[in-house]
Amino acid sequence: MIPDFDILVIGKGLVGSAAAKYLSGSAGKVAVIGADEPGESKSSLVYASHYDQARVQRIVGKDEVWTRLNFDSTEQYESIQKKSGIHFHYGIGCLYVNAYGEDDYLRNFSSLARKFDVTYKPIEHAEENYNDFGGLVFPGKAAGIIESNPSGYINPRLLIKAQLEITKQQGGLIISDTVIKLSVRDNGSFLLETESGKTYSTKQVLVATGSFINYFDILPQKLKLITKGEVVLLVKVDEELLDRYSTLPSLLYEIDEDETEAIYLIPPVKYPDGNYYLKIGCNSPDDVFFDTLEQVQNWFRNSKSESYAPARSRALQRLLPSLNLDDSFTKKCVISWTATGRPYIGETAVKGLFLAGGCNGYSAMCSDAIGRVAAQLILNGNIPEDYPANAFGIEYVDEE
Ligand SMILES: Cc1cc2nc3c(=O)[nH]c(=O)nc-3n(C[C@H](O)[C@H](O)[C@H](O)COP(=O)(O)OP(=O)(O)OC[C@H]3O[C@@H](n4cnc5c(N)ncnc54)[C@H](O)[C@@H]3O)c2cc1C
Repeated sequence: MIPDFDILVIGKGLVGSAAAKYLSGSAGKVAVIGADEPGESKSSLVYASHYDQARVQRIVGKDEVWTRLNFDSTEQYESIQKKSGIHFHYGIGCLYVNAYGEDDYLRNFSSLARKFDVTYKPIEHAEENYNDFGGLVFPGKAAGIIESNPSGYINPRLLIKAQLEITKQQGGLIISDTVIKLSVRDNGSFLLETESGKTYSTKQVLVATGSFINYFDILPQKLKLITKGEVVLLVKVDEELLDRYSTLPSLLYEIDEDETEAIYLIPPVKYPDGNYYLKIGCNSPDDVFFDTLEQVQNWFRNSKSESYAPARSRALQRLLPSLNLDDSFTKKCVISWTATGRPYIGETAVKGLFLAGGCNGYSAMCSDAIGRVAAQLILNGNIPEDYPANAFGIEYVDEE
């Protein structure tokens, strides 16, 4: 009954791949098991939040913990890129704007920026200054801040590829499969059963299955999570027009209008079809929320997202009037929020069964640090001392 592995990470997304990298460098036999990107397949059991070419990167987050996670992650990018030979980070700058003037984030910004040595510039006169940024237009009373490199964007698919490449270099095993059941054996080790009918045994487990963390027979108790469908609009930008948008940074735009709220935008980046697309996403009143696995599966497999396009197009037209929106399409994704507003990282009530998840919409940019915190907790029983001991507490749904 000797387990196959010392530690098995379930989920090879942004967090799982980062954790697997840290664990494979320091523990015994480590494997990461996760579902591959399904493409257009309608039969995949699970999907993910990272099937894309760009995610906003900033340093100063909602509070000091988020800021440290972002900072610690960017500190690793150069070495991850070097070790893996995979380039995923673009420090083109990140602009934060509140349409209505200074907000709490902007008021707290400078003290966090000082603490983490962030290079930035406040922007006070919106109409005068924002035009510097690739033609973006904001209301006159807007206030904002621009962070320089390393803020900008990362390619999430390539970051995962890089983390898994290093995991492999360090002797970690990568398994493509979906886990459908986890059980505890008499000796306290774990048995995992997969979609393809295989079983794996392991002494310890880290569950990092993103917005799917509450599904299947894996965790002993459901986490408090709000899970939502997310729709982005991708607008094709012809290669000869790319120069026009070369000064456009990544954007996080706090605005709350009838049809759109909390906008994010990424300048044109190359997609697998060889074209360049600019991306805009936001919350909107027609967003759908999920309770069950079947609902999320149906969202990815069957639901139509074209009806979300007009509101996003109108918001984008106001923000970037020079952009031609004729050639655009929508893309579906999933996002989840924790009850604490921070990632959940910790050991469950079952000894040796750990979890790291709950993306809150901001966990691509700090996934490396989330993986590191989880790995240290598993290996040493504590989280890195830079973080408050209660930074990543887990909240569970009350048992009936
Ligand atoms: C449209 C959109 C835009 C976003 N923009 C940003 C942004 O600009 N900046 C930012 O920082 N964040 C952004 N996010 C959030 C970010 O992408 C997520 O926080 C991040 O992907 C979370 O990483 P994760 O590893 O927890 O989950 P995921 O990246 O989703 O990875 C989980 C993995 O586990 C796999 N899996 C699930 N269940 C199982 C199972 N039972 N067995 C095996 N494998 C399983 C999944 O297939 C997936 O590969 C965005 C999200 C969306 C949807």
